[in-house]
Amino acid sequence: MNEPKPAPSTTLIHHPYRPPEGFAAPQPGVFKASTVIFPNVAALQARDWREKTGYTYGLHGTPTTFLLEERIATLEGGRQTLLVPSGLAAIALVDTALLQQGDEVLIPDNAYGPGKELARQELARWGIGHRLYDPMDADALGRAIGPATKLVWLEAPGSITMEFPDLRALVRAARERGVATAIDNTWGAGLAFDAFDLGHGLGVDISAHALTKFPSGGGDVLMGAVTTREHALHLRLKAAHMHLGLGVGANDAEALLHALPSLVLRYDAQDRAGRELAQWWLSQPEVEAVLHPALPGSPGHAHWQALCSRAAGLFSVQFAAAVPRERVHAFVDALRLFRIGYSWAGPVSLAVPYDLATIRPGSGRHGTLVRFSIGLEDVRDLRADCAQALAVAFGDGSAAAG
Ligand SMILES: *Cc1c(COP(=O)(O)O)cnc(C)c1O
Repeated sequence: MNEPKPAPSTTLIHHPYRPPEGFAAPQPGVFKASTVIFPNVAALQARDWREKTGYTYGLHGTPTTFLLEERIATLEGGRQTLLVPSGLAAIALVDTALLQQGDEVLIPDNAYGPGKELARQELARWGIGHRLYDPMDADALGRAIGPATKLVWLEAPGSITMEFPDLRALVRAARERGVATAIDNTWGAGLAFDAFDLGHGLGVDISAHALTKFPSGGGDVLMGAVTTREHALHLRLKAAHMHLGLGVGANDAEALLHALPSLVLRYDAQDRAGRELAQWWLSQPEVEAVLHPALPGSPGHAHWQALCSRAAGLFSVQFAAAVPRERVHAFVDALRLFRIGYSWAGPVSLAVPYDLATIRPGSGRHGTLVRFSIGLEDVRDLRADCAQALAVAFGDGSAAAG
């Protein structure tokens, strides 16, 4: 009996042609899927979504996301990585996977703001407590850890005020008390220091990384990663990742895979330009301090020096207390190459003013900072841009001038 010829709607989907094997190119192919097709029912029933032994469903991994996970794990010196839709989602995944009602999490007082807000708003509603600690005082962290403490967050350097902590001492204080540590590793990007191997047998348990920043480098992709070394911990995070329905789009994963080969070149170029410009700012009369961990005199410089040779192209300029906030805002508005916007590590240099009293409430600190993210423009043009904007905002160059 002749089988009926399938209709076009069917042959356009189930076509017998297979392209020849052996295609190879510098960049991997991009696989997109929600549905993953199994060869038979036995395979469907045997697949295990927890391990990279096969494919079960798009949300649980494709060749494209597996490749990106493995590269990020290698970059960070970990063994397993999970991809999530943003850096903030990476922080949220760690919190939700490790904490339950009655637990407490300790967060550095200079940590990335939205991570603190997550604890204040959402974790609090779930009966999870949090406390802020001074990351420049490891003894204080030791004292703050109590029986309810289940997780200590670390960040090096702190957001905006850029204090570089003694990471080893902080990890030791947590480990001696049996508490897990997670670092926001966005600034170091796996290049400035090895978070999993800080020396003296010390390392973090978990690294959360906003791939949005250096790994993407384009200012056009949002993604985060959670990396671990210990398999059991990875499986705990993987279970929460699965239950929460987290995943990333193939086009975004492709953009990351495309950007990773130039990561080290970009990081180092932005580091060089950042240090050069930070140095120039030191000699400006309106300035009270330049906060960049690689600059002697910047808070925690010795800790940075003990652990790193690289730094991200990121620094903050603290204007003298006598400089009115409006002058600083006028300076930022007068910048032409530096654009006003959040995030960093993209091609476009960025500047954002912050009020110290607002971002560090209770610290007794006040004054105005401008946080600079150095892009890929020529540093001489960036310096000239800062100089012309200072001239516009300060006229005679004197901070005292009204
Ligand atoms: C940007 C950033 C994040 C959050 O990343 P998103 O992808 O923007 O959510 C987290 N931590 C640090 C230190 C960051 O700079």
